[in-house]
Amino acid sequence: MDAVAAKAAGQVVFHAEGLSKTYRMGEVEVKALDGVDLDLYQGEFVVLLGPSGSGKSTLLNILGGLDFATAGTVLCGEHNLTAASEAELTAFRRHQVGFVFQFYNLIPSLTARENIAIVTEIAEKPMTPEEALALVGLGQRLDHFPAQLSGGEQQRVAIARAIAKRPQVLLCDEPTGALDSQTGVLVLEVLERINREVGTTTVVITHNADIARMAHRVIQLRDGKIGEIAINQQRVPARELQW
Ligand code: ADP
Ligand code: MG
Repeated sequence: MDAVAAKAAGQVVFHAEGLSKTYRMGEVEVKALDGVDLDLYQGEFVVLLGPSGSGKSTLLNILGGLDFATAGTVLCGEHNLTAASEAELTAFRRHQVGFVFQFYNLIPSLTARENIAIVTEIAEKPMTPEEALALVGLGQRLDHFPAQLSGGEQQRVAIARAIAKRPQVLLCDEPTGALDSQTGVLVLEVLERINREVGTTTVVITHNADIARMAHRVIQLRDGKIGEIAINQQRVPARELQW
């Protein structure tokens, strides 16, 4: 379903209101987020765009229950993240959220399959590691260790690990930031496929405006505030992106 239809159907996955985050370092205050109101809809692919320091990571970390807001509310379904205990947030992250970061954070001494198994073992209705790796096009790399994989392949293992628990939402912070553009496109194609085939609501942070062309919706962040929100009437397939 596209973002417009989802919006019409009112299937809100995340509802954030008046979200603010202030970091205090001695005398200095940094407002990383400043009154963010935002809804994310079931099944949409969102690109969160903004210059370095605009608050993108802070916003994603709060949505994913990795960090606390200093003011405002975030609801995800029946979960009120801003009123949750540490234990509730841990359970929320474990079952509802898949994270993908710029650096893949795979455990070097475990194979691709084992890196995923450590997550699926504590999940409620996971895919098998084999299914998850097939979904990212790495069904032939089950027993490879991270050092035996290219950067792009390692990132695809990290995506398989994030998605294997069938999370409500997949949050990706600069997933192609460490990759050349050709390899980055392969990673984006995988995210596009998971969004289409599994229907996982996906948020991708980038400062690369070209990547925004593949999104249903593009949300601009500037100085901790939401700027323009645009809907792409015509999405560009990831494989046609170039930067
Ligand atoms: P982005 O991901 O868009 O580059 P961030 O969310 O990382 O931006 O940071 C937003 C602002 O908050 C920046 O000014 C950054 O320096 C500041 N910031 C982020 N994390 C911390 C922290 N742990 N302590 C102090 N300031 C921080
Ligand atoms: Mg960041």
